[in-house]
Amino acid sequence: MKEQPKQIPHPRDGKVWVNETTEAWRKDECLCLNGCANMKPGQPDHCQIAQRLFDACVDGRAALMVTRCGLYKPVKADPVLTCS
Ligand code: SF4
Repeated sequence: MKEQPKQIPHPRDGKVWVNETTEAWRKDECLCLNGCANMKPGQPDHCQIAQRLFDACVDGRAALMVTRCGLYKPVKADPVLTCS
């Protein structure tokens, strides 16, 4: 690790240890949070892997970043709009 973990206040419960290097990347680089068509929280066809990871994070006041997934499904890109 580049930096030693630090303790910071948790928004809902006490304090947590954090790796500030990876925490800075998490929201921008996690496969679940960036363009996976299977990510549908609250819907019946939401990814069950993502739901299990989320539930474990709630239990441990933890945060994960998925960097590899065999089930990742890219969201179809919007058609390119052209001006004439
Ligand atoms: S398929 Fe993989 S990348 Fe997509 S939401 Fe589920 S766990 Fe995340």
